[in-house]
Amino acid sequence: MARPAVAEINLKNIQANFKLASSFAPAGKTLAVVKANAYGHGAARVAQHLAQDAEVFAVACIEEALALRKAGLQQPILLLEGFFEAAELEVIAQEGFWTAVHRQEQLDQLARSVLAKPLCVWLKIDTGMHRLGFSPEQAIKAYNDLLNMPHVKQVVVMSHLANADDSLAPGASVPSQVAQLPEFFLNPGIELSIANSAAILSQPTALRHWQRPGIMLYGSCPLAIANQHSNSLRPAMTLKSQVIATRWVEPGESVGYGGRFVAERRTRVGTVAMGYADGYPRQAAEGTPVLVDGQRTQLIGRVSMDMLTLDLTNLPDADVGSEVEFWGEKLSANEVAAHCDTIAYHLFTGVTDRVPRTYIE
Ligand SMILES: *Cc1c(COP(=O)(O)O)cnc(C)c1O
Repeated sequence: MARPAVAEINLKNIQANFKLASSFAPAGKTLAVVKANAYGHGAARVAQHLAQDAEVFAVACIEEALALRKAGLQQPILLLEGFFEAAELEVIAQEGFWTAVHRQEQLDQLARSVLAKPLCVWLKIDTGMHRLGFSPEQAIKAYNDLLNMPHVKQVVVMSHLANADDSLAPGASVPSQVAQLPEFFLNPGIELSIANSAAILSQPTALRHWQRPGIMLYGSCPLAIANQHSNSLRPAMTLKSQVIATRWVEPGESVGYGGRFVAERRTRVGTVAMGYADGYPRQAAEGTPVLVDGQRTQLIGRVSMDMLTLDLTNLPDADVGSEVEFWGEKLSANEVAAHCDTIAYHLFTGVTDRVPRTYIE
């Protein structure tokens, strides 16, 4: 029998989440963000499953886009970080990729290139993230320069908000971030894209021609405070494994490396085939919730590379072979992430290749 660690991916839930995302802006378009291997869910399978519904996909870079072409995907694929060297432009044009342009050198390289096919370019503008993008002052000139390039057939203006969930940032509301954009771009004839998942779920004023949902497709709520929309998201990844050994430890005895957990009472320990080399975070605190045969218990002791240990004292029926769920449909990845000092995005993208993905269609 194979090692029981597996990430079960429910493709129907991803499809339902995509439909929910699309429903917020029925007059606009919604592309599916499948960068970072579809947030760990398997980009090829996810994109193939969404190919009926999504007209455009988005990834971080050309390598990810080429992998999707190899998997048979025919739609346009937007490169959210753009190109890193001018040599990519020819492939971008040939393959029907769309590219972001976020700084002047890229614009110059594009202006100098001779391309067999015209491109769709997403002009990135910095509205306060201060990571990538033209400043609002430079943006109109960049936009007009792009429009004047014969091998640019379409320009979409994009900004990625630093605080798309403005409940935590009263000083930087979404409308005030959007207001950083020159008014020039609010002309309805200019295609605009502002909203990621958090903005789609909570900021009607950020909905424009194009929406860019990522994390919500995978069923995780990115909002600091869930709302009625985010409550209908369906988690797509269930990370699970099985108990492979059990034992009793006596009061005063410790469990695992460094003896972080010391038993205060007689404790029944379950050892599970799941460790940080599978992507379960080593930062997981004492008491991180886990389900065993659907019942809640908790992590005890440090996570090791290939194993971790649980408290089974109150679960007398649990034994070798019991199913363990780390996050998924019955245990929110957000709740687990909070015990690991991280976010669900990090948990999902951290699941390593050692963990086979199985798919529910
Ligand atoms: C990753 C990314 C998204 C998706 O963000 P989520 O928070 O996962 O919805 C949207 N836009 C850009 C530019 C991105 O890099």
